[in-house]
Amino acid sequence: MPAKKMQVKLLASTPNAVTLIYAAFRQCYAPGYVGDDFEKWLQGEVPLEKQAKFIENILASGHESPIEHVSFTFAVEGVSRALTHQLVRHRIASYSQQSQRYVDARDFDYILPPAIAKIEKAKALFESFMHQAAQTYAQLQTILEEAGQGKKANEDARFVLPNACESKVVFTMNCRSLLNFFELRCCERAQWEIRTMAWKMLKILRKELPVIFNLAGPKCERLGYCPEGEKFTCGKYPLAKDVIHS
Ligand SMILES: Cc1cc2nc3c(=O)[nH]c(=O)nc-3n(C[C@H](O)[C@H](O)[C@H](O)COP(=O)(O)OP(=O)(O)OC[C@H]3O[C@@H](n4cnc5c(N)ncnc54)[C@H](O)[C@@H]3O)c2cc1C
Repeated sequence: MPAKKMQVKLLASTPNAVTLIYAAFRQCYAPGYVGDDFEKWLQGEVPLEKQAKFIENILASGHESPIEHVSFTFAVEGVSRALTHQLVRHRIASYSQQSQRYVDARDFDYILPPAIAKIEKAKALFESFMHQAAQTYAQLQTILEEAGQGKKANEDARFVLPNACESKVVFTMNCRSLLNFFELRCCERAQWEIRTMAWKMLKILRKELPVIFNLAGPKCERLGYCPEGEKFTCGKYPLAKDVIHS
């Protein structure tokens, strides 16, 4: 049951993303039918850079729903159940997470928070608790199996598993939901583990679809001020109260 490292991999995305978003925007503002033009745009009748510029200009006006037509699917491993509990709060997404009912967690891997890893005494205490939890899980599993619970033993034995338990999850979000996710989770106020994952995702997406994700990031980057207030600000941007005058 070793400490596990985070992996973030892009599995799939909507093909022809720029042209698809361009077509969705064009359908809103032009009299023609994009069904007649889409193939020509894909062939370059409107150059990709021009499509991207058009998207950029309209996005800047706050019209965001056409970017919902493009989605990205990520596979993540080496993250804690503490992270996935926060992740699945993002409702505009689809999730498939490794089950603690069907997958035996007898030798579960765990996530060691860096702040704990740095302090020898804390690390030893943490690791000893992980071993203790694994032992108790295994004992309960055996007792429940002997009591006739069969494969269902995992279902109740898992109640002793810690938040640090490693998990794997596949999830899909559309571009609009991703922008919201990055605004919240790339912020210094977000918890370190989900923030690390969010920045890894954003790094991938800036390469995949720069027209949408080049300017993505914590809220302050878009607003030009920090909306988090005095108590939570990281200090990178001025506070809202110092910038917005009534
Ligand atoms: C720093 C930080 C601290 C947090 N602390 C806590 C905490 O202490 N306790 C806690 O419970 N949660 C906490 N959260 C989670 C937070 O409240 C959200 O549940 C989570 O960030 C998902 O965001 P979301 O609702 O914007 O995303 P999504 O669920 O993906 O929704 C995206 C957007 O769709 C719209 N939307 C979705 N559903 C509805 C709806 N039902 N009605 C109206 N509009 C909707 C909203 O505009 C929303 O922003 C915290 C989050 C952060 C970033």
